[in-house]
Amino acid sequence: MQLYSTNNPALRVSLKEAIFKGLPDDNGLFMPEHIQELSPAFFAALPQMSFPDLSFAVASNLIGHSIPPEDLRTIIEKAINFPAPVIPIDENTGALELFHGPSLAFKDFGGRFMAETMSYLNRGEDRELTILVATSGDTGGAVAAGFYKTPGIRVIILYPSGKVSPLQEKQLTTLGENITALEVNGTFDDCQALVKKAFLDPSVSTRHRLSSANSINIARLIPQSFYYFEAYKQVMEAHRNIVFTVPSGNFGNLTAGLLAKKMGLPVHHFIAATNANDVVPAYLNTGNYQPRPSVRTLSNAMDVGNPSNFARMLDLYSSTWNIMKEDISGYAFDDATTEEAVRTVFHQDKYLLDPHGAVGYLAWKKYHEAHPDTYGIVLETAHPAKFLEDMERVLGASIEVPERLAALADKTKVAIPMGKDYADFQAWLMGI
Ligand SMILES: *Cc1c(COP(=O)(O)O)cnc(C)c1O
Repeated sequence: MQLYSTNNPALRVSLKEAIFKGLPDDNGLFMPEHIQELSPAFFAALPQMSFPDLSFAVASNLIGHSIPPEDLRTIIEKAINFPAPVIPIDENTGALELFHGPSLAFKDFGGRFMAETMSYLNRGEDRELTILVATSGDTGGAVAAGFYKTPGIRVIILYPSGKVSPLQEKQLTTLGENITALEVNGTFDDCQALVKKAFLDPSVSTRHRLSSANSINIARLIPQSFYYFEAYKQVMEAHRNIVFTVPSGNFGNLTAGLLAKKMGLPVHHFIAATNANDVVPAYLNTGNYQPRPSVRTLSNAMDVGNPSNFARMLDLYSSTWNIMKEDISGYAFDDATTEEAVRTVFHQDKYLLDPHGAVGYLAWKKYHEAHPDTYGIVLETAHPAKFLEDMERVLGASIEVPERLAALADKTKVAIPMGKDYADFQAWLMGI
């Protein structure tokens, strides 16, 4: 399988090159050259398939023989080793819980699959690989957990000081070993700018063999398509007209759903749900795409003003608004409405949504009013306890914290303070 750039369909690279480069030189995004439909035999067997089995079938269909089947199977068995259950909220709504992995957010799927794939493709290289990653919260924890103790690979995480939740910070700063956390005195955008500059800096790339782990990497997108099949499998016998609602920021998760549909998954409709950072819902409603600086919200992992995967969405629909909006509807909600939804669903349905899932839930309810003959699966992208302080404030009560998250509270944070000027970061990189 080869990949092309969304900015230049004539460019072709191997899977290995696409994964290690992250981004094409022309600043587009890598896309698989062919996205084939899965066979009728696959869909007939789907109800009996385990999550790793169907993931293997979907991955093989996407990446062909870029990785030999027996090795791909091993990668998937190591990476996809936790469940993705659909839990009923009410008679028309299920929550697809994507937070059962080590960092308690859906980014574990991408982080773990990318880590396993990169370390597989990195075998036989004698130079250490240094992965730079900027995080606004959840990416860092998932990537750190995915690469923890991977031989030959070192991970450097840049996060904005004071702008990630206390438990998220612990996930980034307490592992040690091959994981280093840099606490940047700036915003997420500053962190991202530092990483970008380092990639373009010849002195740094001479000293280190660099790669990135941000959500634009195709190795993070591929595994996110697996759980759409896993969810469908669980509800296909009881429900029809399945609608997936995706709380979105950079739109990687939704794009992976579009890939699943292209591979033949009979999805009735997609819903793009956002907080006040609503450039994609606005595009779906008006046809105008107007990126703008992000604003801070309660669902902070979705505070993105210029979603990077929008280029992939356009590519999948040949940049045609009318066709895209037939498949995807967009809705946006403010924080007050989101908080109200958390309380309502908790009291009415006894289900605890996190702020991101609550945005998805609201969008689904809005769509369902106009389309009653549908069943909604809301992607629950993170465990509510990751946002402990906000959840307890919203509910006015304490909530349960899973053991593995609670255990973090006692660990000691180790982070290197870093200014937002590139000179400081460069000097540090040249010294390690
Ligand atoms: C990253 C993240 C999102 C947004 O996902 P995208 O793929 O960037 O759209 C939503 N919810 C949570 C909890 C996240 O961590």
